[in-house]
Amino acid sequence: MTRELTFTKLKNLLKFSYVPYSKFPVSCIVTMKNGEEIAGVNVENASFPAGICAERSALPQVFALGFKKEDIVSISIMTSSKGFGSPCGICRQFISEMVDDSVKIEIFNINKHLGDYVIGDFLPFKFSSEELK
Ligand SMILES: [Zn+2]
Repeated sequence: MTRELTFTKLKNLLKFSYVPYSKFPVSCIVTMKNGEEIAGVNVENASFPAGICAERSALPQVFALGFKKEDIVSISIMTSSKGFGSPCGICRQFISEMVDDSVKIEIFNINKHLGDYVIGDFLPFKFSSEELK
């Protein structure tokens, strides 16, 4: 998928967000090795903590559809920000366990592509299962 196509798909996906409170839509596409794309949007709730981010609405589907984390090629995220909207702290932790360290994380805002990263750029000292041993 070209960057331009990813941008267009993410922007179209923003309208499916459920954001009656923040009015801040976020979209996410997880691209698999077989080319399949798994979409996610943020979904809010009147009980605010019950809402979920776009990244954490997309990534669990990877497993529900029978894929493994090794099948993930990239995660593309768009916020409705005009600035640099990056994954929140909870999503950084969640992503750190759900993808390999080398998986590309593409960040977009509503105007343009802002850069390609890996999870270590956002969360250099992740809490992992190693800490539980
Ligand atoms: Zn988040």
